[in-house]
Amino acid sequence: MKTISVLGATGSVGESTIDLILSAPEQFSVECLTAESNYKKLAAQAIAVNAKHAVIADEQYYDDLKAALSGHNIEVTAGRQAIIDAARIEADIIIGAIVGFAGLEPLMVALEHGKSVAIANKEPLVAAGPLFMDKARACGTTILPVDSEHNGVFQIFDEANKAAISRIVLTASGGPFRTWDAADMDAVTPQQAVAHPNWSMGAKISVDSATLMNKALEVIEACILFDMPPEQVEVLVHPQSIVHAMVEYNDGSILTHMGAPDMRTPIAHVLAWPDRMKTSGKTLDLSALQTLDFEQVDHAKFPAVQQAYDCLKRGQAACVTFNAANEVAVAAFLAEEISFTDIYKTVDHMVKEVEDRTIENLDALIAFNDEIRQKTRNFLEKSGLLRAA
Ligand code: NAD
Ligand code: MG
Repeated sequence: MKTISVLGATGSVGESTIDLILSAPEQFSVECLTAESNYKKLAAQAIAVNAKHAVIADEQYYDDLKAALSGHNIEVTAGRQAIIDAARIEADIIIGAIVGFAGLEPLMVALEHGKSVAIANKEPLVAAGPLFMDKARACGTTILPVDSEHNGVFQIFDEANKAAISRIVLTASGGPFRTWDAADMDAVTPQQAVAHPNWSMGAKISVDSATLMNKALEVIEACILFDMPPEQVEVLVHPQSIVHAMVEYNDGSILTHMGAPDMRTPIAHVLAWPDRMKTSGKTLDLSALQTLDFEQVDHAKFPAVQQAYDCLKRGQAACVTFNAANEVAVAAFLAEEISFTDIYKTVDHMVKEVEDRTIENLDALIAFNDEIRQKTRNFLEKSGLLRAA
């Protein structure tokens, strides 16, 4: 039996993880589940998987969570620090499924207490990649990628023949606006942006998929996870979301990873790794597929991917800024404060404005991230973008 904690259990990735755990209860024993504020769902999950701990970030729900779990032998804690402490509980696998930079501190702590740390939560890797990977190496912790493209790369990446790898390719569905005219994208509503054609996901990553910012973050994530130079990481638009990743070797072979667009496949892979388990999700019927299409990214319409390469060239301060400005801009878009295309304008402005600098440690990085978030809010307020929405 493997012991497991899920940080961000009530989200889309968390829910798929719980579904897999429930499908194979004899294989997993759950240490801890965490959530931001949805105490009802957290309580139901904790009871269903018989978790030892349930942790809610928002302290105002402590009493509700406690009441919902009364009569069950589940320890309840609350608060920001409690989420970080949740990552101190020893486990075979700690799943990082919190959304955004908020997942960074728990993930850094998880490296010391998980035999392996499975990461869906890409933003901390983008912002703190070198610090994070250095600590993983120092702790001897195995990092397992959950993000479907990176999980795909992980499965076909021949580490022993790394010098023979000429490139890795991440596919992008292209999002709901792939075929739209650029001129129409200003009027996109949050509702349209979160309606992804192939995947069902949390609101933030759905908007990121619509702007292609998700793929941009994933390019940085791939460089960090596989220690590859940016020029060997490519993006191809593939609207069917069947091929998730490719690794090309210098003999011309291209290995591909395919699967149904269902996060339960990569999550099952990391849960069972190095073994395999049966997915509780969809599987692929290749004979039912008509075609697999691949096309180049339209960089004029979706500038985020190119911005990511520019940030990688510049270094960590640019990467932190890229992510932080996007998080603030996406929240403003979802709150209907700015338009869809203002997300690009905001990120572009912030990345151009920031000066390159070295960030020595985690505290400095967190402070820098806070500073950029504040500056991004200031920019939105002063630029007139807020009123334009
Ligand atoms: P989501 O919004 O559905 O869920 C986020 C989870 O994190 C919830 O449990 C929420 O309670 C918790 N959370 C949010 N803010 C928090 C905070 N400040 N402190 C503590 N907990 C907090 O998000 P999701 O779609 O499941 O995505 C999670 C992460 O995985 C993201 O980084 C996303 O980019 C990545 N990812 C998601 C998918 C997907 O299919 N959803 C695929 C690949 C990667
Ligand atoms: Mg992905």
